[in-house]
Amino acid sequence: MDFQFTESERAFQKEVRDFLDANLKPELRRAHSLTPSVFDDPATTRPWQKILNAKGWVAPAWPSEYGGCGFSPAERWIFATEFARAGAPNLSPMGLQMVGPVIMKFGTPEQKAYYLPRILSGDDYWCQGYSEPGSGSDLASLKTRARREGDHYIVNGSKIWTTHAHHANMMFALLRTSDEGRKQDGISFVLIDMKSPGISIRPILTIGGDHEVNQVFFDDVRVPVSNRIGEEGKGWTYGKYLLEFERGGGVASARMRAMLRECEEIARRTGTLTEDLARRIADVDIDIDSMETTELRVMSALSSGQNPGAVSSLIKLRMSEIHQAVTRVGVDALGLDALVVEPRRPFYALNEPTLLTEDELVVTPEYLNGRAFTIFGGTSEVQRDIIAKAMLGL
Ligand SMILES: Cc1cc2nc3c(=O)[nH]c(=O)nc-3n(C[C@H](O)[C@H](O)[C@H](O)COP(=O)(O)OP(=O)(O)OC[C@H]3O[C@@H](n4cnc5c(N)ncnc54)[C@H](O)[C@@H]3O)c2cc1C
Repeated sequence: MDFQFTESERAFQKEVRDFLDANLKPELRRAHSLTPSVFDDPATTRPWQKILNAKGWVAPAWPSEYGGCGFSPAERWIFATEFARAGAPNLSPMGLQMVGPVIMKFGTPEQKAYYLPRILSGDDYWCQGYSEPGSGSDLASLKTRARREGDHYIVNGSKIWTTHAHHANMMFALLRTSDEGRKQDGISFVLIDMKSPGISIRPILTIGGDHEVNQVFFDDVRVPVSNRIGEEGKGWTYGKYLLEFERGGGVASARMRAMLRECEEIARRTGTLTEDLARRIADVDIDIDSMETTELRVMSALSSGQNPGAVSSLIKLRMSEIHQAVTRVGVDALGLDALVVEPRRPFYALNEPTLLTEDELVVTPEYLNGRAFTIFGGTSEVQRDIIAKAMLGL
């Protein structure tokens, strides 16, 4: 393992910092800091994506032949860390980190030529149609059916917990195309236009007052067969490939550290920084350090051409637990004021004075929104299963 950055990597770090200083407008930074979720609203991400696209910096992990940055693993780590430190909005991962890599690996030349540029420009906004009522952890039991009729599939059923379905114009979905054989073998990976007749979306409001997730209903929705990725019945393979990107793709430690420093600052200001809270902050700091070391270990493995393996599940598991620990520090730093919840998304659109300062305003919503971290992208119990199987060679 070699964690030392080279001279050219340091020069790259300076280039990224200079770019952020020049282009990350205060209003975008503010909107991001007042968003209690990892998912910034499209109103925030669209203008930011335009700026990044003009620079060619939308897709750090994509190869340059598809319009990506072609960064090395070390440059990707530097890029993500600097963006988190600067408080830049998070572009939606659904197109860039999830369906994009699947289209690159398994899509036809026509699908690549059509969809990949639209992901980069932000013309398409994607959502993920995997989970169904009764089929979350046991995803292979999914029932939303795609029946073949000529050159179309007729889709009937329902997807649930679909993040930003109400913003998206496209969904990538796992659909049942057969009941024969193993249940995994009857699943296909299909791209669906969200404007298709027969699709309806029901909002689900979460504990923090957010409208992020939805239930999506399909009632005789016609989807061209040409929208299928790869072979019929092989969707499980493509869908699992995508999950590796969903779980392990990011660099989370820099964002966690920035959030923890904000909580510490609130505790100092409000007089809640007791010895006990200071000790807890130190414990979380140590967890973040070890997370950062794991991220650097992955980067080092990728740089030397090794496959990091089940570590994507390890990162997902620890990242979600540490995030929840940071948000617990936040509410304790705020003390009784944490009970003053003002569930009025989006906070960045607020113009009138509130009882809390802006950095305090988002603490309780972040805590409440953060409850979902150990559930989405596969629950912590499921990640532990995957890690255990990899360790035990099962
Ligand atoms: C905020 C949020 C956003 C989401 N966004 C999306 C999205 O955009 N698209 C999408 O498709 N899905 C999305 N999901 C769904 C998410 O992937 C599922 O909620 C998750 O996989 C768990 O499935 P479930 O809710 O059906 O719970 P279940 O699978 O019913 O699990 C219930 C409990 O049983 C435990 N359990 C289940 N199986 C096992 C096992 N084998 N071993 C040990 N314990 C087990 C679980 O850990 C959990 O505690 C989102 C969920 C949330 C909360």
